[in-house]
Amino acid sequence: MNNILDNILSLIYPPVCGFCGKIDKNYICKKCSLKIKEYEIKNDCITKNMYIDEGYSIFRYKGIIRDTFIKYKFNNKPYLSKTFSKIILKNKKICGILKKYDIIIPVPVHKKRKQKRGYNQTEIIAREIAKALDIKIVTDVLIKNKNIKPQSQLTKRDRKQNVKNAFKVQNNKKIINKSILIFDDVYTTGSTINECSKVIKLAGAKNIGILTIAKD
Ligand SMILES: [Zn+2]
Repeated sequence: MNNILDNILSLIYPPVCGFCGKIDKNYICKKCSLKIKEYEIKNDCITKNMYIDEGYSIFRYKGIIRDTFIKYKFNNKPYLSKTFSKIILKNKKICGILKKYDIIIPVPVHKKRKQKRGYNQTEIIAREIAKALDIKIVTDVLIKNKNIKPQSQLTKRDRKQNVKNAFKVQNNKKIINKSILIFDDVYTTGSTINECSKVIKLAGAKNIGILTIAKD
């Protein structure tokens, strides 16, 4: 059923490269594939602490990566999730890391914000990756229970305070003793993903890895 729907949708909305808008069945054209290479982060772990065992980011949050992210987040272009999931799935190193994990948990947004936007862009990309790599995705464990101010409007110091106690864990049976990969779009100060890692680890996860598409 999903495939039929995908085929119908691709007739109405032919797949385009998310970066330049040119029609391309791979959701990214050859030219843009080369262009984004210059933003790839080559070094390994971006962060590690008592809650996070390893942390990776694929791109620097600059140039067309940043521009396209802004389009995705604020201009109601959910189809860009295809472009982002394709570039993640093309990265062999990152796929190798992802496959070590039992479960992917996308960083949630508050239900009020999800209602307003109609979708959680991080969750859509995570679903596509999880499906392609056959990893379980869980979205009813980590819950955002405070509708906090957008982190992008705050200073570094205030961001940490802002996310404190903003997340809670429910149905923790699902994560006890499991390897959890927490997925988010952009890593800035790390406050959000650190807070998520902390509550998940304290709820009984065995180990935690983080992956973000870009690092500011
Ligand atoms: Zn392109």
